[in-house]
This record gives sequence, structure tokens and C-alpha cells, in this order.
Amino acid sequence: MSNSSIVIRDLYKSYGEVQALGGIDLEIPNGQIFGILGPNGSGKTTLLKIITSIMEPTSGLVVVNGINAGENPMKVKTIVGYVPETPTLYESLTPLEFLGFVGSIRKVDHNILSERINRFASAFEIEDKMNNFIGSLSFGTKQKVAIISAFIHDPEIIVLDEGMNGLDPRSAKILKNLLLDFVSAGKTVLFSTHVLEVAESVCHRMAIIYKGNIVDVGTLKELRESAGEKDAKLEDIFLNATGDSDLKPVIESLKETLSK
Ligand code: ADP
Ligand code: MG
Repeated sequence: MSNSSIVIRDLYKSYGEVQALGGIDLEIPNGQIFGILGPNGSGKTTLLKIITSIMEPTSGLVVVNGINAGENPMKVKTIVGYVPETPTLYESLTPLEFLGFVGSIRKVDHNILSERINRFASAFEIEDKMNNFIGSLSFGTKQKVAIISAFIHDPEIIVLDEGMNGLDPRSAKILKNLLLDFVSAGKTVLFSTHVLEVAESVCHRMAIIYKGNIVDVGTLKELRESAGEKDAKLEDIFLNATGDSDLKPVIESLKETLSK
């Protein structure tokens, strides 16, 4: 387990009659951007909420940097920074106030906090928006504020649920570089997406999830090899991994989500 930051064993989650996760086994190494790739409804958000200890599984084991999430969810929360699929921000605060608030809850030293907020605001090119009400900001700028808030306590692990949502190409590149810096320090990024190109451009390794099960794991190269085609595109690999009988709905779901 030494070089795995996240270990998941036999993880199940049901919402009433709906089984969202059907026995996930996964080891996520540190020092990498690890992708969870799958169409809408495949269980990505559920998996990330359980890993961040926001939600309890029906059964199974989750260990995050050696901490058993079932036994010590609060401790997991202190070492994880999480960007939810739909972030909740305080619309009547400014980004400066909101990030200051998050930093004080996270018990970040005052001087370090100011320095960090400035550095991230500058990296994301939103210095001129730091004193506007969050409610008046564009979707993309709100997403940047949510991302900065996940970094504010210098966590060990960053979890982004569809983290590229709402970001223009330039901002997406800034985020990617930020994540690369983060993992080059030996930390871990877990990144869910339903967009194949995003997984392909951002993630070192990825797991393909479909109907609550992991159907393949590896680098893009390994996934290509397991698909048996040297030059297979991720889309072919994905369709191959999820099985021919399910081809049609998957393609439709992907087309639908890709065109959003
Ligand atoms: P993804 O993030 O990949 O789109 P989710 O984890 O959101 O997938 O959802 C997985 C499955 O669980 C879907 O069938 C979804 O409808 C269902 N689900 C998710 N959240 C709830 C909930 N709060 N109550 C009932 N069903 C849910
Ligand atoms: Mg989701």
C-alpha cells in the first residue's frame, strides 16, 4: 500500500433500489493525476463522494493515505481538497471573503492564507474579480473560485468531479499545469470526467467505470494494448471495455454529453 494513496476494496453503494456502485476494487498511486472516466450515471460522483468521506458506502473498504475512511471520516476530510460537480458558493460574499472564510475553517495561518489566495488568483487570472460578489461572476470564474478553495489548506489529495466544467481552453490549461505541479510534489489528483478528450489530455492513468463497475484500468498506452489496437482512440477503448451489447446507449450518452 506504500505507494498507493487511495485503496478501495469491494465497494458497494445503493440508493434504495438503485445500485450505483457494484463492487469497486481500485488502487490509486500517488504522484499522478488519476482519471475516473465514464458516461453519465456510471457512478463517478458517488465514488468520489465516498472517497472524500462525504458519503458512506453501503459496504466495502476505503483507505486514504493510510486512513480508514469508515473509521475516521473527519481525518480524511482534513487531507483532501474537493471540488464538487456543482460547487456551492456563497453568492453574497466576494471570492476574497469566501476564500478567507474557507481558509479560516481549514485553520490556515493568516499570512500563508493571504499569500496563497493571491498566488492562486494570479495563476487563474481573476485578481480583478476578487472583490466582486460571487453571485455576479460567470460560471467559469465561480468554478475557479471553487478550485482555489480546494487547494487552500494545501491538501495531500485533490479530488475534482468534472473539474474542467465551465473552463475555457486557456483556464483548462492553467488548471492542468496546477495539477501537474501538485502531483510532481508526490501528491495525488483524482479527476472524474465523462469527456474522453479531457481524460486523454489530463490524466496519467485512468479507470473506466461503467454501470458502477471498473471495466479497465491503466495508462492510455496500456488501455490501448488491452483493447488490442495499437492506435486505438480512447473512444474505441471505452466502447471495447464496456462491451458490444451496450454499445448503442453508451455512444448516445457520450454524444449527448460531449455536445453539451
Ligand atoms: P455519474 O457521476 O457517473 O453521473 P452518479 O454517481 O451521479 O454517476 O450516479 C450513479 C447512479 O446512482 C445513477 O443511476 C444515479 O441516478 C444514481 N443516484 C445518484 N445519486 C442518487 C441519489 N441521491 N438518490 C438516488 N439515486 C442516485
Ligand atoms: Mg457525476
